[in-house]
Amino acid sequence: MRKPKIVILGAGYGGLMTTVRLQKLIGVNEADIVLVNKNDYHYETTWLHEASAGTLHHDRVRYDISGVIDRSKVDFVQDTVVEINKEEKKVVLEKGEVSYDYLVIALGGEPETFGIKGLKEYAFGISNVNSSRQLREHIEYQFATYNMEEEKNDNRLTIVVGGAGFTGIEFLGELTNRIPELCQEYDVDFHKVKIICVEAAPTVLPGFEPELVNYAVSQLERKGVEFFIGTAIKEATEEGIFVAKGEDEPREIKAGTVVWAAGIRGNSIIEKSGFEAMRGRVKIQPDLRVPGFEDIFMIGDSALMINEEINRPYPPTAQIAMQQGEVCARNIAALVRNKSELETFHFDNKGTVCSLGEDDAIGVVFGKKITGAKASFMKKVVDNRSLYMIGGAGLVLKKGKFNVF
Ligand code: FAD
Ligand code: NAD
Repeated sequence: MRKPKIVILGAGYGGLMTTVRLQKLIGVNEADIVLVNKNDYHYETTWLHEASAGTLHHDRVRYDISGVIDRSKVDFVQDTVVEINKEEKKVVLEKGEVSYDYLVIALGGEPETFGIKGLKEYAFGISNVNSSRQLREHIEYQFATYNMEEEKNDNRLTIVVGGAGFTGIEFLGELTNRIPELCQEYDVDFHKVKIICVEAAPTVLPGFEPELVNYAVSQLERKGVEFFIGTAIKEATEEGIFVAKGEDEPREIKAGTVVWAAGIRGNSIIEKSGFEAMRGRVKIQPDLRVPGFEDIFMIGDSALMINEEINRPYPPTAQIAMQQGEVCARNIAALVRNKSELETFHFDNKGTVCSLGEDDAIGVVFGKKITGAKASFMKKVVDNRSLYMIGGAGLVLKKGKFNVF
């Protein structure tokens, strides 16, 4: 009898977790497993703010996929997904195609620019290893160029961060640690550097505990960040950005670097492949399948799942993507074994920690509010835990964060 073929698209948190769990659950005689990913490495998206600011080298945030998969059970294909043909049960890749019996779509998200003019051309994102490396190099270039010009252009030393969500705040935490190093390295007066965070909502970290938000704001302000709250970015240009508060006329802020960290949408492959989606995300069933498709699972940032308690979608996080990966693997194993009862996904929220640089953070863990060194320690525990869940103790020893005190 022909073995079913399970194809997993994306080796991020969701896809890789599904793969490593499936390779344990399924015997070689039961099914073929194919994992498709753009790169031959996995990157810790949750560490990209560090690589982007230059406080951690980009090689520290990635590891080889071949080191964590069982190659006797999983066929790894390094290629880029172009489109999913649901009717013919095929995935079109840049260099070929792959057919499937069961498909897991775990392609992650993309920056949401809300159609704001100039962002795609002039703003930097924190999305993957390439974008992080480019942002880090761009900031360094501005510092390196500053003293080379006869007429000094102070705008080169202005960095604007759009969005004070978790990504924006974590990046600012790293950046404020990196700036004094850059000033020293490139003989730049620290007082000439401006770091501005522009947030459209009436508060930083909307929806988070006000006490912790105040702590984060005062720590970052102390390190030189200026917050423009209730102010939206309206346009990005070669020279900087235009912002507006409420109905006010937009005003210009000249800046050498603009970072867009104002939210994500689902991977564009989803809409291109004709899935019904909201901001590129598909509202999935409790068993993680796409409505109307018994053989297609969608997890992670491209999936939208409603938190019934508050009737709002769960925020797209690595925590939920990994938990979905575990359930997805069990549900696929059940289908391969002809069981029709599938497990319902329930999110087990272990908390949230937001770093404010290497040695500071805020968070709510198991319902308790924490700040400072304690929160920073917890953040590193969380970072190491995700390595452990995918690659065991060996991966933690190789890539883990041990500078905890
Ligand atoms: P990803 O982990 O993004 O993986 C998607 C994979 O698909 C990637 O390997 C990518 O290369 C691949 N891929 C994409 N397109 C294609 C294609 N066309 N063909 C082939 N392969 C493709 N969440 C938390 O829970 N805790 C945190 O502390 C946290 N910190 C964060 C910090 C930052 C700076 C950012 C940006 C996000 C953070 N998040 C955090 C959110 C978290 O990173 C995401 O929710 C998570 O990465 C989603 O996992 P995923 O598997 O859906 O996608
Ligand atoms: P987000 O959607 O959480 O925050 C984006 C922020 O940008 C919002 O505060 C929004 O008001 C603001 N914004 C939107 N349009 C704007 C405009 N035109 N001008 C100025 N501000 C604007 O996005 P994110 O921070 O990238 O986070 C994405 C997901 O990743 C979330 O689910 C988040 O929880 C998760 N994440 C978690 C962590 C962590 O747990 N430590 C870290 C980073 C990201």
